[in-house]
Amino acid sequence: MTDHLTIVNHPLVQHKLTLMREKTTSTAVFRQLLREISMLLAYEVTGDLEMTTKKIETPLMEMDSPTLKGKKLALVSILRAGNGLLDGVLELIPSARVGFVGLYRDHETLQPVQYYFKVPTEMDKRRVIAVDPMLATGNSSVAAIDLLKESGARDIRFLCLLAAPEGVARMKEVHPDVPIVTAAVDARLNDIGYILPGLGDAGDRMFGTK
Ligand code: URA
Repeated sequence: MTDHLTIVNHPLVQHKLTLMREKTTSTAVFRQLLREISMLLAYEVTGDLEMTTKKIETPLMEMDSPTLKGKKLALVSILRAGNGLLDGVLELIPSARVGFVGLYRDHETLQPVQYYFKVPTEMDKRRVIAVDPMLATGNSSVAAIDLLKESGARDIRFLCLLAAPEGVARMKEVHPDVPIVTAAVDARLNDIGYILPGLGDAGDRMFGTK
């Protein structure tokens, strides 16, 4: 995967995303769809993982069989909405190590404020997948990637459900080495930084806080 932006146009992803966008979709259904869609997105974002082979014995004979190379992946959830993607991705990659970056968006400045940071050891030796459902202004995503790079991470992917063109452009400007995988790029942001047409506040919709 060398493209800076990959849009996953798989019919199941697009169908599930439509259901998630609908305002009448309940919290329980939204959460379930997010889990399902994040597995499909995880499949895409891991498509270029490095492989090696190992000698195994089938019931019939020995063979050299493909296996993932290197240290376990690090999944980093950008709190709090990232946790909604995390569960589905972990279902597909259960042995991944997990980190958390706590950032909240100041509603006036739209700038990210850090309140938590904990990531696995040896970040420089791992493929790192940062997860956050909504790439909106890009401010918090850029700040989260800054922190991951400070922790040593070099091989980073950014996985989101929905992106705005503004966020994609900002990420490309600041972190051109971090490919983005998303289900869709919407039209634009509104004046308070929400993605249009979007799906509303992803955190509120998955946790039922509004
Ligand atoms: N975060 C959200 O949850 N939704 C948006 O539309 C933008 C940022």
